[in-house]
Amino acid sequence: MSRQRWWGWGVDGHDEPLPADGDALLTAELGMSPDRREPPPLEALVLPTSALAPGARSALENVVGSAWVRDDHAARVTHAVGRSYPDLVRLRSGRLDVAPDAVLLPGTAAEVLAALRACARLDLAVVPFGGGTSVVGGVEALAGGRAGVVALDLGRLTGLVHVDVRSGLATLRGGTFGPDAEAELAEHGLTLGHRPQSFEFSTVGGWVATRSAGQASTGYGRIDDLVQGLRLAAPAGEIVTGAGPATAAGPDLRELLVGSEGTLGVITEATFRVRPVPGATHFEAWALPGFAASTEALRALAQADAAAATVTRLSDEEETRVNLAMAGASRRVGALKAYLRARGVERACLLVLGWEGADAAQLRARREAGVRVLRAHGAVALGAKAGEAWARRRYHGPYLRDELLTRGVLIETLETAATWTTLLTTYRAVGAALRASLAARGTPGLVGCHVSHLYRTGASLYFTFLARQEEGAELEQWHAAKTAASDAIAAAGATITHHHAVGRDHAPWLAGEVGDLGVALLRAVKATLDPGGIMNPGKLLDAPRLPGAP
Ligand SMILES: Cc1cc2nc3c(=O)[nH]c(=O)nc-3n(C[C@H](O)[C@H](O)[C@H](O)COP(=O)(O)OP(=O)(O)OC[C@H]3O[C@@H](n4cnc5c(N)ncnc54)[C@H](O)[C@@H]3O)c2cc1C
Repeated sequence: MSRQRWWGWGVDGHDEPLPADGDALLTAELGMSPDRREPPPLEALVLPTSALAPGARSALENVVGSAWVRDDHAARVTHAVGRSYPDLVRLRSGRLDVAPDAVLLPGTAAEVLAALRACARLDLAVVPFGGGTSVVGGVEALAGGRAGVVALDLGRLTGLVHVDVRSGLATLRGGTFGPDAEAELAEHGLTLGHRPQSFEFSTVGGWVATRSAGQASTGYGRIDDLVQGLRLAAPAGEIVTGAGPATAAGPDLRELLVGSEGTLGVITEATFRVRPVPGATHFEAWALPGFAASTEALRALAQADAAAATVTRLSDEEETRVNLAMAGASRRVGALKAYLRARGVERACLLVLGWEGADAAQLRARREAGVRVLRAHGAVALGAKAGEAWARRRYHGPYLRDELLTRGVLIETLETAATWTTLLTTYRAVGAALRASLAARGTPGLVGCHVSHLYRTGASLYFTFLARQEEGAELEQWHAAKTAASDAIAAAGATITHHHAVGRDHAPWLAGEVGDLGVALLRAVKATLDPGGIMNPGKLLDAPRLPGAP
C-alpha cells in the first residue's frame, strides 16, 4: 500500500523548503515564478468511473476477502500512477484519465496466484504495485484493451520469511518496504545494503522487478547482483528459481524474471545475498577539476582492485553549482569556493565517497588505496563534514521536487550507462539534446549530471534538468525533452535505462536496444507465463502513447 501522500513524495509535514540561495538561483536563471500552485484536494480529483462489474467484484472477494477489494476514491487515486514528473503533473491537474477499477490486496502467495487466475478468467488486466515509486510509468493503470484493470498491491505480503546467517542469505516477501527489510535484517546483524533514493517508500519486490540500483551499489552491487532466487506467481502457475550459490543448469531463469516489471507475474518472495552490518563507515567529499578529468579518476578507481568506495558519487560542474545553492549554506559555500580557488579548482566537480569495512583497520586500508588514486588525479580533500551532510540528506531530494512543482518548475531526471570509452560523448550528447529541446520551447533550462555507479567497464550517467514549466503545455514540454534525450542516448549506443527500468516511458526504445528478435523472445516467454496477456499491459514490451505526445 502506498505510504505516501497522494500527490507527491513522502508524507505531509515532511516538506522541504526551498533555501534562499536556491530560490534566488532558480528565479534568476529560469524565471521561476513567486506564485504557488498548490495541488487540488483529493476529493476534487476527477477519475474515470470504475468499470468493475458486481459479478467480478464478488469473484475477487471470494479470493482475497471482501475487506481486501477496494474501489474507494482514495485507493483508486493512490494506485493510478507512479511518481514520475508526468505522473505528478497529471495528479496536480485535477483530472486523471486512468485509474484502476479496483485495488486487490492478497495476503499470501497462494492468494496472489488465485487472484491472477481469477483476473485471467474475468479478463481483467493486473498491475503489480509495490511502493508505487516507478518513475517510468511502470504502475500506470492501463487496461490494454481488457474488460478492466486492477492494481495488485503487495502491501500485505511483507516481512522476513527465512534467514540463513551462515550462508549469508535472507528471503523477504515481495511487498516489504526498504526500511522494514533493513530493520528485520539488522536483528540478525545483517544488511542487504540496497539504498535507492526511493528507499523509504519502495519495496524489495519492486527493486527486483525493475533491476534497481542503490546509492551504495558500487560497493554492494545492483539488486540483480544481490538476488539469488525468487518466487513468481503468474497466471499460468508458480515458478521458484533455485537459490544455490551458482549453477550450470541451463540458461538462468532467474535472469528472465529479474527486471520483468510485472509483465510476467508477481514476485511474491525473493532470496538475497546479505552481509554483516559494517563495523565502520566513513563519508567524505573531494573536489576534482572538470568532469572529463574527474571521470578519469573514477575509471582509475573502478579498475584498481579494492580502491572504489561503497558510495561513489561525482557531480559535474553544473550539478555541483546547483546543489551547493540548494544546500543553502551560503557562508560555508563561500569558504569552500575560496578554498578551491586557492588550489586552482575553479569550476569544481564534487565527489562524495562512502567507505565501509568490517572494522576501522579494513576501512583504512581500502580508503588509503582509493585516496592514492584520487590524489594522483588532482583531487582536493574537502573533509568528512561535507560527506556526512550528503549522507544525512541522502533521501531528501525528492521532497524538494514537490516544492519546485508548486513553484511552476519542471524538474525531471533520467539515466543511462556507457562504457568508459563512450561515457563523455554520451554525456555531452544527452546534455546538448536536453538543453536544445528546452531552449527551442522558449524555456531554457539547467542540466546537471552525476555518476553514481562504477563498473570496471563503464559507469552510469544520471541527468537532472530544470526549467520553468510551460503553463498549459507541461506534458508536451516534458515529452519533447524526454524524447530528445532518449534519442540521443540510443544514438550514442548507450542503454535506455541504467536502473529506472523500461516501464511505459522507455518502451519505444527497447527494440532498438535488444533487437526485434530479442523482443519476440521476451514476448514468447510472456505468452507462456501469461497466455491471456493480462499482466501489466502497456509496459516494457508494448509502446503506448506517452503523456504529452503530439
Ligand atoms: C524520488 C525517487 C527516487 C528514486 N531513486 C531510485 C534509485 O536510486 N534507484 C533505483 O533503482 N530506482 C529509483 N527510483 C525508481 C523506483 O523507486 C524503483 O524503480 C523501485 O525499484 C520501484 O519500487 P516500488 O516498490 O516502488 O515498485 P513500483 O513502483 O510499485 O513498481 C515498479 C514496477 O515493478 C512492478 N512490480 C512492483 N512490485 C512487483 C512485484 N512484487 N512483482 C512483480 N512486479 C512488481 C510494477 O508493476 C512496476 O512495473 C526512484 C524513484 C523516485 C520517485
